[in-house]
Amino acid sequence: MISYDVARFGAPLQRFERPTPQPTGSEVLLKVLAAGVCHSDIHIRSGEYDLGGGKRLNMGERGVKLPLTMGHETVGEVVALGPNADGPNAGGVKPGDRRLIYPWIGCGACSVCARGDENLCTKPRSLGVFLPGGYADHIVVPHARYLLDIGDLTPAQAAPYACSGVTTYSALRKLDPAVLEREPIVILGAGGLGLMCLTILKAMGGRAIVVDIDAKKRDVAQQAGALATVDGAARDAVQQLQAAAGGPIWAAIDFVGAPATAQLALDCLVKGGKLIVVGLFGGQITLGLPTLPLRAITLQGSYVGNLAELRELMALVRRARIAPIPISTRGLEEAQSALLDLEHGKLIGRTVLQPAF
Ligand SMILES: [Zn+2]
Ligand SMILES: [Zn+2]
Repeated sequence: MISYDVARFGAPLQRFERPTPQPTGSEVLLKVLAAGVCHSDIHIRSGEYDLGGGKRLNMGERGVKLPLTMGHETVGEVVALGPNADGPNAGGVKPGDRRLIYPWIGCGACSVCARGDENLCTKPRSLGVFLPGGYADHIVVPHARYLLDIGDLTPAQAAPYACSGVTTYSALRKLDPAVLEREPIVILGAGGLGLMCLTILKAMGGRAIVVDIDAKKRDVAQQAGALATVDGAARDAVQQLQAAAGGPIWAAIDFVGAPATAQLALDCLVKGGKLIVVGLFGGQITLGLPTLPLRAITLQGSYVGNLAELRELMALVRRARIAPIPISTRGLEEAQSALLDLEHGKLIGRTVLQPAF
C-alpha cells in the first residue's frame, strides 16, 4: 500500500510503500475512496499547537509517533474483515460496502469510552493522529462499529462529516435545544467549520448570525443562509450583533478560538448565555472571575464529537438533504500541496484526496 506520511515534524509529507495489512481480530480493511484535508493536519504536521502565553502543545510529547499517516476524514470501501469482525454492533458490513469512518477512537476500556465519549478518552487511538489514517490507499479500522452508512452521498461529500461535520454538530448539541430552535446563534468564523455549522443548524431548524473579518467569507455565509453577517473587526460589532439578533444573544460558537473572537462572543452574550469554543487558533484572554457568577455565563470547550453524534448527524444529513459544502478533489499524491494551499488560505470549502486505483 501507498501512504503519504509525516516522517519528521515540520518536513514535507513523504511517500511510503509497505505491504497492505491483513485485518486481524475485529479489524476491517478498507480501500480509501476519499480523505479530507483538515486544518488540524497542518498543526499535526508542524508538531505543535500554540496554547497562548508562549506555551505550546507538542504533538510528540502527546504521544504522536512518526512516521504518521494523517487523515481523519476518510470514506472507504470494505475489502476484507478480520476473523472476529462480524460480532455484535458490526452492522453486517461486507466487502464492497462504502462507509464513512469514525476516527476519534479511544482505548475502549475506560469509563469515558464505556459511556460513549471515546473522543475524550485520555488514551486516544484516533485514526490519522495516533493510528494510521486516510492519506493512503488502504486503511485498517479496529472495529466495524466505527463504520457509518453514507446513503447516496459521494465519498468526497461524506468524508468531511467525520471531522468538521461531527465537530460542529457536537458543539450545537451542547446548546439548550430550546435556544437552538428559537434563538439566533452567533457563529464566529465563516471558514469551513463555520459554514458547516450554519448548514447543519439550518437543517435542525435554527438560525445564525455569522461573524468574520473577511468580507468575502461574510458574503459566502450570507449566500449560505445566514440571518445576518457582522464584521468582527468593527468597533461596534457587539451592538451590530445585538441589533441583528433583535433581542438578547443566548449562545455563541467560536470556530476561530482567537482572543478577539472569544472576547467578542463573551461581550455579546446575555446573562445566562453560553459560549462554546471549538477553534484552535491559539492565544489567551483575561477573564474576570466574578463575571462568571454575576453574568451566569457558561464557557465550554468542545472537541470533535462522539460516535453516537456522528450517527445522528449522518441520519440528519440523509433525512434533511443538507446542501453539500463546496468540495474539490485531488489525487492522493498531491497531499503535500493540498496541505500547503490550505495553510496559505488558498482553498474554498473542503479539499478531498482520492487515490487512483
Ligand atoms: Zn479535522
Ligand atoms: Zn478510553
